[in-house]
Amino acid sequence: MGRVLITGGAGFIGSHLADRLLDEGHEVIALDNLSTGHPRNIAHLIGHPGFKFLKYDVTDYIHVEGPLDTIFHLASLPSPVDYLRMPIPTLKVGALGTHKALGLARAKGASFLLASTSEVYGDPEVHPQPEEYWGNVNPVGPRGVYDESKRFAEAMTMAYQRNHHMANYICRIFNTYGPRMRADDGRVVTNFVAQALRGESLTVYDDGSRTRSFCFVSDLVDGMLRLVQSDHHEPVNLGNPNEMSILEFAERVVKLSGTGAEVDFIKPEDERTQDDPKTRRPDISKARELLGWEPSVSLDDGLSKTIDYFRDLFESEKGGATRQA
Ligand code: UDP
Repeated sequence: MGRVLITGGAGFIGSHLADRLLDEGHEVIALDNLSTGHPRNIAHLIGHPGFKFLKYDVTDYIHVEGPLDTIFHLASLPSPVDYLRMPIPTLKVGALGTHKALGLARAKGASFLLASTSEVYGDPEVHPQPEEYWGNVNPVGPRGVYDESKRFAEAMTMAYQRNHHMANYICRIFNTYGPRMRADDGRVVTNFVAQALRGESLTVYDDGSRTRSFCFVSDLVDGMLRLVQSDHHEPVNLGNPNEMSILEFAERVVKLSGTGAEVDFIKPEDERTQDDPKTRRPDISKARELLGWEPSVSLDDGLSKTIDYFRDLFESEKGGATRQA
């Protein structure tokens, strides 16, 4: 992969990808405007001879000195609370940001991977979701800003492939979790883990019967690396097919955190659950067949690592607050 650019390189997935690429001896440039990414995620890489960080907004014209072999375009606002709060930047990063990143890849003759999403399937009427399914998205609903930005990004990536003879890659990422998620990103994993560790009740929306399938971040990164080394240039689902209801997930968090936290059923009055997909599970036949990939980290192992990360983070924040006081 040689010299690699990661847009969104200070984010949750981007920073894990940077770690893995550096471990394998590649050079990494992480570009991030830090709107949702955090310097803490890459602090351990500062000073590494193969690593460079650029604070930059991918929706502006991108100039990178020197050659680039691969671009991973991860910059995005994938968390519902973020895209509901920042709908226009969400549309811009999916549309303008993807255009700029593709233009850079073309100019440098670099391989290009788009991090797309299971949200392209919307509230699916086909279950589990294979790549051939076109989806069920409400373009004018509150979630439409994210879903359509990624659908546009996929269309743009395919158009560059067809018109500019590039060999691009698209992975559709299903719910992924692990250390370095943002504690306040509003997603179910971070909400439940933070609530359990703070001794609060877990906020299960409605009756908790919606389903999701959770993939640990190291498995996802492995799938992405296999994809960019393949010759498959159509979208591929990357996710863990282990589907469960949100209520079951809450029970796992309570058990693994050992906190005895309670579960509260609440009905959000705002847009959080509008058009919220009722079910989601990836069909990963393609990834299995074409990449020889499937997730290997169990939910219990991945969730325990995630809980440990947040326990340490909250402890260090408490320590910092005490020192400041
Ligand atoms: N959810 C919940 N309680 C929370 C946060 C989320 O019950 O505190 C539900 C949410 O309505 C959705 C599922 O958990 O059905 C996953 O939400 P998340 O925001 O993690 O990601 P999504 O898959 O919807 O993008």
